[in-house]
Amino acid sequence: LDQPESAGVVARRLLDELTRPMTIEGHELVVTPSIGIAVAPNDAETVEELLKAADTAMYHAKSSGKNNFVQYTSDMDEAGVERLTLETDLRKAVERDELVLHYQPQVDTLTGSVVGAEALMRWQHPEHGLVPPFKFIPLAEELGLIGELGEWGLETACRQLVVLQAEGLELPKVSVNVSALQFNRTFITRVSEVLRQTGLRPRRLELELTEGIMMDGAESTINALEGLKDLGVQLSIDDFGTGYSSLSYLSRFPLDELKIDRSFVIDFDKSENDASLIVAIIAMAKSMRLQLVAEGVETHEQYQFLRHHGASVIQGYLFSK
Ligand code: C2E
Ligand code: CA
Ligand code: CA
Repeated sequence: LDQPESAGVVARRLLDELTRPMTIEGHELVVTPSIGIAVAPNDAETVEELLKAADTAMYHAKSSGKNNFVQYTSDMDEAGVERLTLETDLRKAVERDELVLHYQPQVDTLTGSVVGAEALMRWQHPEHGLVPPFKFIPLAEELGLIGELGEWGLETACRQLVVLQAEGLELPKVSVNVSALQFNRTFITRVSEVLRQTGLRPRRLELELTEGIMMDGAESTINALEGLKDLGVQLSIDDFGTGYSSLSYLSRFPLDELKIDRSFVIDFDKSENDASLIVAIIAMAKSMRLQLVAEGVETHEQYQFLRHHGASVIQGYLFSK
């Protein structure tokens, strides 16, 4: 290296190569690499220290959204320690009853009524306070804890909806996020057990799946989704438009709802392209008879625009955090 920054150029090239979808035995696979960079002698004096510094930088790259590289800086060590304690604590979070669900309403733009709510998980940490999901969901996935956390979320959302109803508060349905790593062979069984135990009518549960789940168009995925439909639950595709997936899954999979990702909603008034994309997605959802939810709506302008173009259900800070 003539200068430390040059490592970034190489890292970028590696990322560009690695993030290209690969086809292996008919499955399209996408990896999300994270690269940490440390340079001797600035960052470390021994090989062990250098590797450790690169590792620390890599964890920072991971937590800043993956597909990314990060150069080591000395203030990162503390964050590494924090990560370790979070890891240990997260393993006990469920049994210590530290997880909570917050509900964000989904509002029908024509009637103004609340047609559902999305359950969003938070971790009430005894020292760190309320930890947002981007800090612990990826960690839970990495540690193999996401099944346990996800199950807790599913069970709690269903139970609380039943309780709400008993108190005379009518919320038509609840949406629960499902991690791709949670979507395994036992998932359908767990969903059906939770429905039975809580007594929630299946139609009032909606599962939010990411494009990552649909991506491998495997027969087993289609079967699993059909199995869920047979239970009577509703299926929604989350963060639509951000993944690598092809559009064909929209017709092949038994979906009920499509959620336009927030990133399309943010800048639509600044860029005509984004605006026409939203209009096109709304039209597509209509013609495929999918319910459409626009998420991340913060301003009246966004709301008016979406309503004007026929987006029926809206979720975002404009109505409620
Ligand atoms: P998501 O499923 O896309 O959830 C929407 C996120 O956007 C939420 O962030 C929500 O608080 C935020 N949001 C909603 N309206 C607005 C708005 O108007 N403006 C802005 N700036 N943000 C808005 P949150 O709660 O931090 O959750 C982040 C992500 O964590 C979720 O993204 C979801 O992928 C994941 N997550 C949350 N709860 C669970 C869960 O129980 N299980 C799993 N597997 N993932 C979860
Ligand atoms: Ca979601
Ligand atoms: Ca989303």
